[in-house]
Amino acid sequence: MEKKITVLKGDGIGPEAIKTLAQIAKKYGHRFLYTEAAIGGAAIDRYGVPVSEETLALCKNSDSVLLGAVGGHKWDCIDPDKRPEKGLLKVRKSLGLFANLRPTKLFPQLAAGSPLRQATVKNGIDLLIVRELTGSIYYGERFTGEKNGERYASDLMGYGEHEIERIGRVAFETARKRRHKVTSVDKANVLDTSKLWRAVMHELAAEFSDVAYEDALVDSTAMQLINDPSRFDVIVTENMFGDILSDEASMLSGSLGMMPSASLSESKLGMYEPIHGSAPNIAGKNLANPLGTILSAAMMLRYAFDLEKEAKAIEAAVDKTLDDGYRTGDIMSEGMKKVSCSEMGDLVAANL
Ligand code: NAD
Repeated sequence: MEKKITVLKGDGIGPEAIKTLAQIAKKYGHRFLYTEAAIGGAAIDRYGVPVSEETLALCKNSDSVLLGAVGGHKWDCIDPDKRPEKGLLKVRKSLGLFANLRPTKLFPQLAAGSPLRQATVKNGIDLLIVRELTGSIYYGERFTGEKNGERYASDLMGYGEHEIERIGRVAFETARKRRHKVTSVDKANVLDTSKLWRAVMHELAAEFSDVAYEDALVDSTAMQLINDPSRFDVIVTENMFGDILSDEASMLSGSLGMMPSASLSESKLGMYEPIHGSAPNIAGKNLANPLGTILSAAMMLRYAFDLEKEAKAIEAAVDKTLDDGYRTGDIMSEGMKKVSCSEMGDLVAANL
């Protein structure tokens, strides 16, 4: 297989994912062709904008996009429209990335780091939140002004059925690659958008009869994520609920540096990135945990290129490295062997 990958290194993430992919290419006889382009602060420094039109074109002409993270204190005080994060939003929008996939997995080797009670995590945590990323209240009509003699503001939450159906399909199809269960999260006891959401999800559930389906309210899901996260496989939900629940879920494993993510478009083109930011307090010191980025590369192989065996090989190599007791500073615990970011990358590549 030969694939073109655009690499947006951003403002603080190293080459460990590429090292891992190079090993996969060698072992399984693939060819990955990389083109690097600047985004975020790096692009502001070079071009005066957080992402250039050339970079957007490059992303569109590739088979996949691998992103580090953007942002840093150096660019904190510039015009809000030119901040590094705007580059990211522009890429998401211009590639039509409507589905955000965020797995939360508790690695048994790191279970002690979970903020949950050990009795709760003993059944394991391995769930995936599928969040709608381009619709609803974040993109709805806004108003700020005066009404009835006082200051007033409103944000409109709306969904077209095609938007619900396409994110629902991603959830059901993804569940087929996992444990065949979908929980659709809404607030159908109050919101009309949620009633439509639920109706469309039920139509899909009938079509995907091999996948177990349940409805859940967002408030109760927030509780269940803390109370019994092992009950979830795939959770699908709208933009704002997903924003909040996915951040809540990311804390369950106790290690931001371990979490990958994917954002997908209607074509196969997607962007793969760790969920953490550019970690400016440790950037450039060879201290960061590269596993979130490496696991994002595994997601890319699985979802963009259908290379399940290769994705599993990366995940197994990460597991083995943790089994062998190697830890970066953020996941370090007593009796383990502390390694740098690049050493962790080398160990994973060697385990492939
Ligand atoms: P952050 O994720 O960068 O850092 C939060 C904490 O987690 C810090 O203590 C950091 O050291 C630690 N951390 C993060 N990644 C780590 C890793 N791989 N290994 C070890 N420790 C890690 O979030 P923040 O500090 O709120 O934001 C910093 C910058 O990143 C800001 O400019 C923000 O806007 C940006 N940001 C970018 C993205 C993105 O590019 N997708 C996401 C979130 C934040």
